[in-house]
Amino acid sequence: MPQAGIHALSGTMVSRFVPKKEWFMLGIVFGTIFPDTDNLAVAVATVTGGATEGLHRTFTHSIIVIVGLILLFNIIGKAVKKQKISNFGTGLGIGMIMHILFDLIIWFNGVEVLWPFGGWVNFWESASPSKWWMDLMMTAEFLFFGLFFFWLYQTAKKHNTNSDSLPNLKIHIYVQMTLFVIFTVLVYVMKSGFMTPYGALYLVSLGIAYYFVFKMKETVERITSS
Ligand SMILES: [Zn+2]
Repeated sequence: MPQAGIHALSGTMVSRFVPKKEWFMLGIVFGTIFPDTDNLAVAVATVTGGATEGLHRTFTHSIIVIVGLILLFNIIGKAVKKQKISNFGTGLGIGMIMHILFDLIIWFNGVEVLWPFGGWVNFWESASPSKWWMDLMMTAEFLFFGLFFFWLYQTAKKHNTNSDSLPNLKIHIYVQMTLFVIFTVLVYVMKSGFMTPYGALYLVSLGIAYYFVFKMKETVERITSS
């Protein structure tokens, strides 16, 4: 990561360069937040006492996997004669590549870009950011989920799309902002046990972001024509 919300917002920013094809923009925005779902594997390994090594920023951050996904979606799209499935797959690949670039450029860690064949790249090898900063960046996940939801809310209002989702979305903007405040206090006062509730709520929030991206796909898709 950087924060999932930043990734999602980066996806929306390329909208003006994106051809208006059905489900293409949906694929891009989903692709920008999808790679950090590997944190779920880390969480499962942590809870079950397994090794967490090599689970984050590897298989979901790999060019090889991305090419495979693009091909897979395009083959399925052709087979079932649904162009939008192919569009989604190509968009997904572009979004995931954007995610990897953002990870490399603005985060103090590396990515195994050629997993499973290695290819560890880290522009920040010599950087050692202070702990208070990294703690803040962690809780800022909630802040940026909130800002992404807020962007979605404003865009839906502007285009008059997905109005039925807006009351629910509004609640989640407040929830994310509240979580940001609470966890920013907790990360500095708790001596131990912070990661479990934080990690659980982060994963739930990521799931909620997925939900809104698909539920409000009409809004996500509309931005290419604006
Ligand atoms: Zn990532």
